[in-house]
Amino acid sequence: MLTDTQAPMQLANRLDRISEPQTIRMAKLSRELKAQGLNIIDLSLGEPDFRTPDYICEAAIKAMQDGYTKYPPVAGFPELRQAICDKFSRENGLSYAPENIVVSTGAKQALANVILSIINPGDEVVIPTPYWVTYSALVQLSEGKCVYVPTTIESDFKISPEQLEASITECTRMFIFSSPCNPTGTVYTREELAALAEVFQRYPQVTIVSDEIYEHINYLASHESIAQFEGLRDQVVIVNGFSKGYAMTGWRLGYIAAPKILAQACEKFQSQFTSGANSITQRAAITALNGPQESTYEMTKAFKLRRDFVIDALSKMPGVKINNPKGAFYAFPDISAFFGTTDGKTEINSDEDFSMYLLHTANITTVNGGAFGDDRCIRISFATNMEHLQEAMQRMKDALAKLH
Ligand code: PLP
Repeated sequence: MLTDTQAPMQLANRLDRISEPQTIRMAKLSRELKAQGLNIIDLSLGEPDFRTPDYICEAAIKAMQDGYTKYPPVAGFPELRQAICDKFSRENGLSYAPENIVVSTGAKQALANVILSIINPGDEVVIPTPYWVTYSALVQLSEGKCVYVPTTIESDFKISPEQLEASITECTRMFIFSSPCNPTGTVYTREELAALAEVFQRYPQVTIVSDEIYEHINYLASHESIAQFEGLRDQVVIVNGFSKGYAMTGWRLGYIAAPKILAQACEKFQSQFTSGANSITQRAAITALNGPQESTYEMTKAFKLRRDFVIDALSKMPGVKINNPKGAFYAFPDISAFFGTTDGKTEINSDEDFSMYLLHTANITTVNGGAFGDDRCIRISFATNMEHLQEAMQRMKDALAKLH
């Protein structure tokens, strides 16, 4: 039997380079408090509250019955890689061959493959802030150096071509961003991407990682990818997946579209880490892409109504500054006006204090913006139903009214 008196196991130093994401910590805390009987409204979650559409679930059952229960090819079933190429051609006007596609256990693994394949110790990776928590962790794991470029709510959290150019040095190997963006909901237009593309064309040593996992949750007319600019085809990796647009978070499936040399490198990493992604999920994903897309549109419509409600409610709360997210399912208000205030018991001096105040006073879980590189803000997920959102916004308004 193991006892606590034994010398503690020595863990590797690389563990110190990363920490558990704040998003996952808040979701855990929320579950624990709910289990204690508290009426918590969880606005920390990064997953659609919808069920996976039936046509996809049925395809998974059929896959099991058809015997797709053995190890799949490491980079993915050829039919899925082809279906992904067809999707790129149909929805994005981009031409890829199956050899450019690697399917992984979530977009998170796809990102890990890409970053580990390119970044050597000391290499610089430019990341506009606010950014999705995992980018910096993976760069740090690779012993690369994150170069953060701050953006502001006034510029709709977008990086300008001038900021981009100023951040690139001879050590820069990568640029990572998401559009639609988690946590800000920012969506770059074609013109804005074209201006960034012009800068990147001068730096062919910089690989652009374009995280497009919220592609389908877009409230503008169309999704634009930086991969569409001809001169950049050998520099861009698109990361995408099924978690958000098809409400398939638990199925764990993501993919990249990349130059062949990088696709092969990612396949090599994956062959030692996990082998191919879940075979049943992969078969269901073929149906997800080739089947009717109505459920995806319906979910996006519902997210848009919630977005409108939440942004309207937040914009009416004195002291809260907010941009209008054009995609994804998050609001990222600047709440720094409350720093230095108190309700008589608790003093608010940081984003974390603010998030904790909402938790303890209003029973709402949010994520502090510092987790995404901007400690003036908090992230509010609206991937929950309208009743919860109405109740949560009322509770938040009441809690803020107590601060002076
Ligand atoms: N990229 C972004 C911007 C995300 O928000 C997430 C999930 O929250 C992922 C990637 C990872 O998605 P997956 O569930 O496919 O690993």
